Amino acid sequence: MRRILLATRNRGKVRELGELLDGLLELELESLDAHPEVPEIEETGETFEQNARVKAAGSARAAGIWAVAEDSGLVVDALGGAPGVFSARYAGTHGDDRANNARLLRELAGESRREARYVCSLALAEPGGQVVATAEGRCEGQIASAARGRAGFGYDPLFLPALQPGRSMAELTLEQKNAISHRGEALRAFLPKLRAAFENRDSPPPGG
Ligand code: IMP
Repeated sequence: MRRILLATRNRGKVRELGELLDGLLELELESLDAHPEVPEIEETGETFEQNARVKAAGSARAAGIWAVAEDSGLVVDALGGAPGVFSARYAGTHGDDRANNARLLRELAGESRREARYVCSLALAEPGGQVVATAEGRCEGQIASAARGRAGFGYDPLFLPALQPGRSMAELTLEQKNAISHRGEALRAFLPKLRAAFENRDSPPPGG
């Protein structure tokens, strides 16, 4: 079993990534709770990928084991791409989903263009802190005019995924969400790269 740190404190993400990774690889997933030596890493990047890379590298280096990090958010066309990398703190307080959703509805009041997408970037870093793989996933949809449903997290009650007409993301089961979500798509693209990175590490050097 290979130990790998899932470098996020967001419970919604841990639940979804844990379910997606469960049983797929010979992995022992470790949470940040088990690694107090990993500091809070500032998300200073301008893109989801930059943030995922910085979090994976810093977490792996501090914990001394492989780390997967994730950065994700909501991109709304009529808002010029906002909230984007600021999705978690759109209304000011990091992780205040209720306030973030309220601000999103306010910003879009009277707006007929409701197209949006979730984007997720994943990065894998080896124990020395070098990023060896990344992947991205997207999920297209629309922003509803009122919240619906209680599942998921973040903007899910306001997000109407194109692939599940008539329902908000918060009205889907975890399995249904993972099948169409940005996180699910990113992870499916990521898994072969994760496998290849581990195999490269395990194989003897050429000629040796
Ligand atoms: P991060 O921790 O900086 O990557 O923040 C991600 C933020 O984007 C979350 O706090 C949510 O507001 C939003 N977000 C990302 N993925 C999802 C999702 O699957 N559903 C709803 N909101 C999401």
